[in-house]
Amino acid sequence: MTHTATEADIKAVVDRVNEIGLKTELSRGEERTLVGVIGGNAYAYKEAFSHLNAIHEIIPITKPFKLASREFRPLNTVVDVGGVKIGGDEVVMMAGPCSVEGEDMLLETARHVAAQGATILRGGAFKPRTSPYSFQGLGEAALKMMALARDETGLKVVTEVVAPGDVELVARYADILQLGTRNMQNYALLQEAGRSGKPVLLKRGMSSTIEEWLLAAEYILSQGNRDVILCERGIRTFETSTRFTLDLNAVPLARELSHLPIIVDPSQATGRWSLVRPLALAAVAAGAHGLIIEVHPTPNQALSDGAQSLDFENFDRLMEDLRRLLGAMSRQLA
Ligand code: PEP
Ligand code: MN
Repeated sequence: MTHTATEADIKAVVDRVNEIGLKTELSRGEERTLVGVIGGNAYAYKEAFSHLNAIHEIIPITKPFKLASREFRPLNTVVDVGGVKIGGDEVVMMAGPCSVEGEDMLLETARHVAAQGATILRGGAFKPRTSPYSFQGLGEAALKMMALARDETGLKVVTEVVAPGDVELVARYADILQLGTRNMQNYALLQEAGRSGKPVLLKRGMSSTIEEWLLAAEYILSQGNRDVILCERGIRTFETSTRFTLDLNAVPLARELSHLPIIVDPSQATGRWSLVRPLALAAVAAGAHGLIIEVHPTPNQALSDGAQSLDFENFDRLMEDLRRLLGAMSRQLA
């Protein structure tokens, strides 16, 4: 719409789109409003708008993902998680154990990472393990412990949901729903998370292209949920020396293609604690809006992902280096 378009002008366009049987999605910027027209071959109907007022331009969005594209929303999306802003200038640190193993270890970890500057606590309650015989998580009991840790430390909580039927339960406790790499194309789960009203952290599928990942985000956005955070967590390649290969190309590329915030998980990506700090720093240097890091009081006793978890001392080293890097980039920790 032109910058002088009135609410009535915008409404007339929305009504016309609905008459044709297509859907709209409004993007209100400071200067002007964009009316997204969603539906197969929407551009073919452009003549239907020729008599309406205050249309500045009709642009075909050439990407298969529309709501996630920068063409649709030129300005960065900033996801506000109870005051913690993800996608702005400041870098957000999410940290905590791979799995919640008990109240004491969780509280100890939460207190430590909060004191070091993390603002979001991670911790799995429902674990999507590759083997059905591995530790599967403590379920709702773990969600209660996460909520307790939030009350005590003020950290916001991110935790994974693995089944559409669990979304409501997990959303009762979590501030952000994490959708894991193994579920990136679980479309029923994406849609349910899209309807939850909670921000969603969408991990990239380990064998998914960037386009497939943004189309997965589109499933969530198309349910009316704008609060999607992308997370690069490593992809499968021929290399077997590390657990996955961290695709840092994805960070600046996702920022070019999409307005959504992107964070990086160097813990899952490398599978080795000694590689976590250098790749965390590289991710921030490449433009990541945040990091999600596995931290455990005693990694060698962890029930999941101990080999890639930082102990407190190594987490502190990371935070110290991160602050130095951010200083050099004239950026800050959130
Ligand atoms: C995790 O964060 O512990 C996890 C299982 O992540 P991913 O889905 O990326 O493997
Ligand atoms: Mn893990």
